[in-house]
Amino acid sequence: MAIRMFDCIQKKKAGKELSLEEIEFFINGYLDGTVPDYQVSALIMAICFNGMTNEETKGLTYTMAFSGDMIDLSEFGNLTCDKHSTGGVGDKTSLIVAPIVSVLGGKLAKMSGRGLGHTGGTIDKLESIPGYKTVLPREEFIRQTHKIGISLISQSGNICPADKKLYALRDVTATVDSIPLIVSSIMSKKIAAGSKNIVLDVKVGSGAFMKTYEDARILAENMVEIGKVCERNVAAVITDMNTPLGKNIGNSLEVIEAVEVLKGNVDNDLGKVSVVLAAELLKLFKNISVDDAIKEALKVIYDGSAYRKFEEWIAAQGGDISVIRDTSKFQESKYSKNIISTFNGYISQMDSEIIGNASVLLGAGRAKLGDEIDYSAGIVLHKKTGDRVKKGDILCTLYANDDSRLEPASAKYLSSLTFSSRPPKKTPLIHGIVR
Ligand code: URA
Repeated sequence: MAIRMFDCIQKKKAGKELSLEEIEFFINGYLDGTVPDYQVSALIMAICFNGMTNEETKGLTYTMAFSGDMIDLSEFGNLTCDKHSTGGVGDKTSLIVAPIVSVLGGKLAKMSGRGLGHTGGTIDKLESIPGYKTVLPREEFIRQTHKIGISLISQSGNICPADKKLYALRDVTATVDSIPLIVSSIMSKKIAAGSKNIVLDVKVGSGAFMKTYEDARILAENMVEIGKVCERNVAAVITDMNTPLGKNIGNSLEVIEAVEVLKGNVDNDLGKVSVVLAAELLKLFKNISVDDAIKEALKVIYDGSAYRKFEEWIAAQGGDISVIRDTSKFQESKYSKNIISTFNGYISQMDSEIIGNASVLLGAGRAKLGDEIDYSAGIVLHKKTGDRVKKGDILCTLYANDDSRLEPASAKYLSSLTFSSRPPKKTPLIHGIVR
């Protein structure tokens, strides 16, 4: 009997399992226009309420992965590495992890995304380096990976068109926060992107999709399982996003902070998370213990080789190395404003999503798709959760090129903070690792 979309919706509404044929029918039909938006909307809402079995999630992941181009990286054998973050604020770990892993033999032929909403994206950060080319022809992308071990470009071509279309629909139908839909969306892109070894940074907390550890763990376990079924080596690190990562938020500000870590300033939250993520990738493709992997990652930071690899990579993609060697050469914002504490005590909580939105108000992110980014705009945090503050202390500095942006961002930033008279309980930076 011919498959009908009405029956698929009815079935999912009743909590039943869709067959692979039914999943292929709705995805391929949505892509070629024979299944309309309104029926797909109804189906994904039913998925939000009733979930999907592992078998269904696997089918959806595969169907979306094969909906467009598949990148073939088999010429690099088992050395190909990819890293993905579920999205955070101040998260510049890819800029640090890629050179560490590449200097130790990994091959990163990687595609990254742009920031959306309150979260940043690696491509916008790289574009803040004058001259950096985020688009390369395929032959150059591969040649550069052979030559120096890293090519990092924006998502191009026709990778996972089904996810692109479905994600846009989820965005406007309040159906983003469904674990099977997130798993299949992320893993389909990772599978299509071709790397054998994949480390997922699953963020949890106020600035993340996943607000609770339990949800983050379920997401991480599901993604690792699907990755393994698709014959990839996968690990997921669940990291804290209750507080922004590091001290700088905003594109060139984040590149500057990544350079500081690569130059040896690793004893901080950003350095620690980056080293753990890099170590998980090293463990996957070198088959070594986590302890040895951490030692190797730290060694290449301290001996300067990871930093030199970073320079080599940026230069190979046309970036101006002089701003990396001397980060004070990055163009600065015309205006800045310090936010001053009126409280004596401790910062007990920071809402990272609100802080990400404050940086968007400054111009560091896009309020909507296609908006221009101001690369030098952003926030430098001087005090973070757990820090003692006194009246008159500078909590953070806001940067913008349009001074009318400072006041609204300042009010937004202040609304993200909670103070207490006692030090808050410490939350872990790494909540867990799923392998
Ligand atoms: N990131 C993705 O790529 N897809 C999702 O569904 C959520 C986060």
